[in-house]
Amino acid sequence: MDNQALINRDLACVWHPCTQMKDHETLPLIPIKSGKGIWLEDFSGKRYIDAISSWWVNLFGHSNPRINKALYEQIATLEHVILAGFTHQPIIELSEQLIALTPDNLTHCFYADNGSAGVEVALKMSFHYWQNIGKPQKTKFVTLQDSYHGETLGALAVGDVALYKKIYAPLLMEAITAPSPAGCYAEQGESYESYARRQFSAMEQILHARHDEIAAVIVEPLVQCAGGMRMYHSIYLKLLRKACDHYGVHLIADEIAVGFGRTGTLFACEQAEITPDFLCLSKGLTGGYLPLSVVLTTNEIYQAFYDDYTKLTAFLHSHSYTGNPLACRAALATLAIFAEDNIINKNQSLAMMMQQAVEPLKEHPHVGEVRQQGMIVAIEMVQNKTTRQAYPWQQRRGLKVYQYGLEQGALLRPLGNVIYWMPPYVITPAEIAQLAQITQAAIDYATSD
Ligand SMILES: *Cc1c(COP(=O)(O)O)cnc(C)c1O
Repeated sequence: MDNQALINRDLACVWHPCTQMKDHETLPLIPIKSGKGIWLEDFSGKRYIDAISSWWVNLFGHSNPRINKALYEQIATLEHVILAGFTHQPIIELSEQLIALTPDNLTHCFYADNGSAGVEVALKMSFHYWQNIGKPQKTKFVTLQDSYHGETLGALAVGDVALYKKIYAPLLMEAITAPSPAGCYAEQGESYESYARRQFSAMEQILHARHDEIAAVIVEPLVQCAGGMRMYHSIYLKLLRKACDHYGVHLIADEIAVGFGRTGTLFACEQAEITPDFLCLSKGLTGGYLPLSVVLTTNEIYQAFYDDYTKLTAFLHSHSYTGNPLACRAALATLAIFAEDNIINKNQSLAMMMQQAVEPLKEHPHVGEVRQQGMIVAIEMVQNKTTRQAYPWQQRRGLKVYQYGLEQGALLRPLGNVIYWMPPYVITPAEIAQLAQITQAAIDYATSD
């Protein structure tokens, strides 16, 4: 097989995600033959560091022997079974373990097969809870500026990334958007914490004024990933939890991207010492092997649906592949690696190395901010360092970083002008150094004119 033959066949029949297909007239598509650890290899033998964990899903490298083994065993036993009326060992074990690992008071697991579907589940469950307990006027959702919760219509409606959302506006329910708590917007010299506290007052006002009609607030705890890796202080989550309790509003924590160690703790909510009413997980859940998502919720919410069938209070949502045993087994193997290899501790030194590796970029004349939260590092390119003025989006500076990175053997896929690393946790110090060198050169190249 050669790369070019595959590219030609692909472009004749595959419509790729999040892509203007015309770009591929000039931007080569990259057929990947195999993956091992943090490396992807194409059909000409060229290798690429997967610096973004293949859209943030891969935690322990490609073709991980331990996850492979678990899947081989499961596939020889049971590949799939309907989850209504039936159950299986992997889903029971996984649910028990997730309940033990996540913040206290989350007692039940509802499964779907991708992140967006998980967000839909949480939104529907919150709304439906209020219907079931006799508060049918609570139908609205509050979201944060720059937030991202997926691409299906409900998830898109509670997101705030115009690039993905704007065209579909006529199809979407209207959400209430609160201003961003992200520290990248703080005044010069203002701390992330002080900015988050200040921004919370707008959220407080919304809840105060409209709590009668609000079902839930949905947030990405600590890092708004797709919205540009925008990070905010944990105090915001603490204040939000308190206010949601005070005003009788659910808190949905969408940890689809930040869960499973990305922010330095197993779950980001831990850093604010809060328990959400709904916790959405996906992406890293299966170590990047198979699509699976889960929404964990409290006994109080579960009980509001639990009644005689004829009361018609049940949550009748379903997906064909709900709770697929192979996906659950991959998730169990992933959780086993976290425990056996003490990953959260080990990641602390990796995060430190990542920090040191990007430190010199802070002085770069076209870098406005270098920010980090655990195993996520983001570098924001700006036209003017002093005023933080952004490059016009039409210049596609991030795309130049992407192209340069590929030439040099790294898969970096910037979000606009924000370059980031979200590597598998098996990256080595030498690989971090190599990635830093490529990233630095790519930024130099993309900002040189
Ligand atoms: C990726 C993502 C989603 C959507 O998950 P998909 O599996 O891509 O549908 C939802 N929320 C957040 C925070 C995400 O990063």
